[in-house]
Formats: sequence, structure tokens, C-alpha cells
Amino acid sequence: MVSLTRQMIEIRSILNKISNKMGESISLPAIVVIGSQSSGKSSVLESIVGKDFLPKGDNMVTRRPIELTLINTKDSSDEVNQQSPKKKTTLFKGDVDNDYLVDFPQLREYNVSSFTKVKSLLVDMNLQVSSKDCISEDPIQLVIKSSKVPDLQLIDLPGYIQIESVDQPAELKDKIKSLCDKYLQKPNIILAISSADVDLANSTALKAARLLDPKGERTLGVITKLDLVSPGQAAQMLLNKKYPLKMGYVGVVNNNKKTTESEYFQKNKLFFKNCQFSNRKLRKKLITILELTMSKELKPTFIKLQQELDNTAYRFKVEFNDRQLTPRTYLLSQIDVLKLAVKELQDLFSRNELKSILRQELDQEVLNILAARYWKDLENENVTNIIGDPSDEAALSYWHKNLELSTSSLTKLGIGRMTTAIITNSILSELNNILYVLQPTSFQQQGFLYSLVNDIAIQVLNKNFYSTADQVENCIKPFKYEVEIEQRDWDDSKHNSILLLKEELKQVQGSKNLLKSNLSGNGGNKQIQQILQFLKQRQALSNGNVLDINKLDYDGGFSKILLEKGKQYIELEKREQLLKFRLRFINGKQCRDTKSMDKCPEIYLKAINEKLISTAVLFLNIELLSDFFYNFPIELDRKISELSIDDIEMFAKQDSKISKHIELQKRKDLLQLALNKMNSLLIYEKINKKPKKNL
Ligand code: GDP
Repeated sequence: MVSLTRQMIEIRSILNKISNKMGESISLPAIVVIGSQSSGKSSVLESIVGKDFLPKGDNMVTRRPIELTLINTKDSSDEVNQQSPKKKTTLFKGDVDNDYLVDFPQLREYNVSSFTKVKSLLVDMNLQVSSKDCISEDPIQLVIKSSKVPDLQLIDLPGYIQIESVDQPAELKDKIKSLCDKYLQKPNIILAISSADVDLANSTALKAARLLDPKGERTLGVITKLDLVSPGQAAQMLLNKKYPLKMGYVGVVNNNKKTTESEYFQKNKLFFKNCQFSNRKLRKKLITILELTMSKELKPTFIKLQQELDNTAYRFKVEFNDRQLTPRTYLLSQIDVLKLAVKELQDLFSRNELKSILRQELDQEVLNILAARYWKDLENENVTNIIGDPSDEAALSYWHKNLELSTSSLTKLGIGRMTTAIITNSILSELNNILYVLQPTSFQQQGFLYSLVNDIAIQVLNKNFYSTADQVENCIKPFKYEVEIEQRDWDDSKHNSILLLKEELKQVQGSKNLLKSNLSGNGGNKQIQQILQFLKQRQALSNGNVLDINKLDYDGGFSKILLEKGKQYIELEKREQLLKFRLRFINGKQCRDTKSMDKCPEIYLKAINEKLISTAVLFLNIELLSDFFYNFPIELDRKISELSIDDIEMFAKQDSKISKHIELQKRKDLLQLALNKMNSLLIYEKINKKPKKNL
């Protein structure tokens, strides 16, 4: 059976997790150590631990209590010890002692085995309280695990509290009083340390103890430095006559360079016949006292805990309708919603949808090729040239060649990479939209879930990017050499290319109108006419060269900006006329069938484009999308399962309502856990009721 103290320590550590306030309403007994500076307090604590672990030095004034939990690790199967690895070899190297492992739960530092580090962390934590504030009630938590320590919990109060000097500010006095009131309360045990070379009547520790334990029922006296007085005097102090305490006094000798404690007591055996002495005795006594006090407190603490649990359970029912929620279940529910949305996304990315996404970009490429290879010619040539005179062989061959080159430009755009990139990006942007809706209100865009999901998506998509691009490119290869366009395709394409040109015409007209309202600004319509007229005259004089606004020898009194806009306007006007002309043309009977493809590149290129798109979609669907929608949820689950508890908690708590819900549930669960543990202790105690030992 693990010691009662150890189990109570576990219960205390459970209660500590709930909240600081909790500790005030439900407190388990602890041993509180007090002693003025140089009374030998540190030496006593270190002798109990068997290790020199407290920082020393004249300017080292303790500002915070130290809550020292000692865990005996002989039986290392229980919870408190989970952190410590199985280590059996004793390695003692400099300040590192592998027989001891020290935890600083507040700093999340576990299993520290260097005592230099232990001391320096203690100094750091102590200095978190500014010298202006002098002392703080917030204890430093320190857990020492070793096979060489007993199960014990001690609270070391700042040595400060005994130095009540006249010039202390009132505020500090209040703080000291509140610290004492808090820690020296029932049911805590007071370990009052006094030095033998100071008259007990003047012992500041005993004075402080008496204030809160006037009958001396909970105070154990420790007299240090017995070696500094005569053995007779020392024995007198220990006999508990002058200032009686129920638990009496224990005498110790520490840090005497000439003789060890056992040699000292051996030598002066006769003097100490009826006394309690030695550090060993002190240790044993502390263990027994703590066990007994804890066992006495079991029942009342159990009742308090039960009340607290009832209150919490009631609040949980009223506020959250008893709905179970942990950071993990919350995260998983969010992930489920995400997965569902991604599933819907999969349905959304149908072939038709994919085609229309690709069409948006690739149609633009068709327009660019048309503009570069055909429409440009029309700016200088007679419009009829493009139609070609049936008897003009050179013209016919020119337009045939032109179509071949245009087709080649289109098929050699790098369709594989291009389409794969377009679809990849559109998946990512759809995913962003989903996340945007999903994020809890208090969640920033660049939050935790956002980047996690994005990273996974990018990773899954990237994995197949190049192979997909290559596949698509491979499959469109035949189109680079020869394409068979059937009459049905031609008819569809005719219809579609008309739509495309109409859309383009609408845009050109839109831009033109915008420019017009821009240009008319202050001068109104008249000004535009003047600018345009001026530019057209200049153009006529330029021998067919492109007009360069910066090189005009005469600017007609217009600003460069106006002239530049005017030039743009003229270009848009030309493009508008051209598009209207081409629309009439391809709509007409000249473009009835595939035989006329050289004359009707708009229809032909649009038909090729559709073939490229269909082929690309086929492979994008198989190589990229199916793989993504299959692997994304798997990868998501994997990454989620790797998240630390802290990360998950941080995520969940970003939503204040969820945070409140989780906190209350955690409180309820922990209370329940503590209560269950306590219940089994109570049952055990009942069965094994021991005769009451004398303290
Ligand atoms: P604290 O200031 O109350 O923590 O006291 P320390 O444990 O640091 O002890 C103060 C001084 O008294 C140190 O120099 C110790 O070496 C010395 N000291 C502590 N215990 C004994 C003892 O039992 N006998 C002797 N002779 N010196 C001791």
C-alpha cells in the first residue's frame, strides 16, 4: 500500500490543477516550516531531503513560500511518478545526482537532475517578486523525487516573517500577517525552528506559532545547533518543560565540521536520555504526524469536496446541459465539420466545374494568341486580307501557316503545369473559404487550425503536382501534331467562340467607357473629340509608325497623361471595331464548316482549347483530385493525432465560450477523480483502523 501521505499528495496535485482558489476552500494538511534567518532552517530542510538544494548567500532573501513535495520513488508505478524515467544506475557527477529528479511544474521543467540548475531556477522564481513587493503569497512549487526521500509535503515560509522590525512599512506588516494567517491555519502543522544558542523565550518561530496555535497542539519544535551549547542546557530545552508543545521538541545537529550528529549524540547519550533527537527521528516524526493529520482530515475534506462537486455539477448542468466537452472532442468536432465541408467541396469540383475553372484562364490565352497573330495584322492591313481571296494562293498559304503556328502556340503553352497549378490554387482558395467560415469568432485568420490545414493541403497537393503535370502534358501531346475536328465540335465551337468574343467586346466597351468618363473630366465631351482628332492627325503623319507620346514634337497643348489616355482610347476603339467585325464574320456562312478553319481561327482555336481542357480535366481528376480528397482527411487525422495536449487546449480556448465550458467540465472531472480517490482511502482507513499513535 502506498503511503496515505503519498495518496493525499496526489489528491492535492489534482486539486491544484483546478484553480488556485480551490486550494483555499479545500485544503489538505501540510507541514509549514518557520524559522528566523540563520536559525538553521535550510539545514534542517536539506537534511530531510538529504541534499543541498536551497540557494544560499547573504543577499538571498526568500520572497515566496516554497511548496516542497517529496516523493519516494521506491514504488514508481503511480501517477506522480509518471514523469520520471526508469533510472537505476547511480551516477554522481559534479552537481548532477541521478538519484534525484526535480520538477518545477509551474515552469514545465521536469526531471532536472542538476542541483546548480535547481538552485538557479529557485532564484529566478524568487526574483519574480520585485524587491518593492517584498513578499508574495504565491508559492513556488518544487517536487523532488528520489528513493532517498520520504513521502512528505513541506511549505517553507520566507524567513522574512520573523523579522518584524520597527521600521518595516505597515504594508509589509499586513502582508506578513496575511501570509502567516494563510499558512499557519488549522489543520496545518507548524514546524517551528529555533537555534539552541538563542533563548527559547526569544525564538521568533515559537512566537509566530503561538499566535495561531496558542495551545501548542499543532506545533512541533525543532532545536538546531545543540552543539553550540552545553549538552545539559541542550537537554533542558528538549525536555519540553518551559514552553510545552503537545508534540514536543526534537534536537538536531547539522553542519558541525568537527563531529557528525550521530557521534555527538553517542558521546552525550546520558544527557539526552528522555529526549527526542536526531534528524532521523525528526523525519520519522514528520511522516507519522502528517499521516495522522491527513487521516483525521480525510472525512471533513471529503465532505467539502462532495459539496464542491455538487455545486460544479449543478452549474455544468444549468450552463452547458451536461454536454461533455474536452479540448480534444471540441477539436475533433471542428475537424469533422471541416471534413464534411471538404467532402462537399469534392462534389463541387465536378468535371464541369473543373472545365469552367480552366476555361477562364485558357480562353484568355486563346484571345492573346488571336490578338498577337491575327488582330494585329488588321490594324495596318485591309480587313479583307484576312478573309483571303480564293484565287490568291500566297494569301491562302499564309493564313494556313498562321493557323498552324497559332495552334502550336496554344498547345505548347505548358498546359500540364498550367492546368495543374490552376486547379491546385483553386482547391486551396476554396479550402480557405471553408476555414474562414469554420474559425471560431475569436480566431484570427492566421490561427493555428488555419495554418495546420493549409500546410497539410499544400503538402498533399504538392506530392502529386509534378507527376500530374507530366501526365497531362503527355496526354495532350497528340494535339501538338494533329487535331481532328468534327463538324459537331465545329458547330459547338462556333457558338462558344461567338460567346467568347461577345464577352471580350463587352469588356473592351466597358474599358472604353471608363476611359471616356475619365477623359471628359472637366472639359466634357468636346475635349475628348479634340484630343482624339489631334492624335489621329499625328498618327496620319507618322508614316504608319506607332505613335510615341513622349516623342511628339508638338503636343497640341494637351498634357502627356491626357494624350496617353487618348491613345489608349483609340486603341480600344479599334479593338471594338475589330471584334464587331470578327463577330459578324464568324457568325456568317464563311465559317460554316471545318474547311474554312484557316479563315476562322477563333472557332478553330476555341475547339482545340476545349479538347485540351477535357483531356486535362480527365487526368487532373484522377491524378490530383481523387488523390487529394482521399489523402487529405487521412493526413489531417495523422497530424491531429500528433498534436500536443497544450496545442489542443490552446486551440479550444481561443473561443471564450468553449474555454468556459472546458474549464467547468475539467473542474467537475477532477473533483470527481479526487473524490473517488479519497473515497477509496476512507474505505481503506475504515478496514484498517489503527490504534491512535501518540504524537
Ligand atoms: P537559515 O538561514 O535559517 O536557513 O540557516 P542555515 O541552515 O543556512 O544555517 C545558518 C548557519 O548556521 C550556517 O552557517 C550553518 O552552517 C550553521 N548551522 C546550521 N545548523 C547548525 C548546527 O546544528 N550546528 C552548527 N554548529 N551550525 C549550524
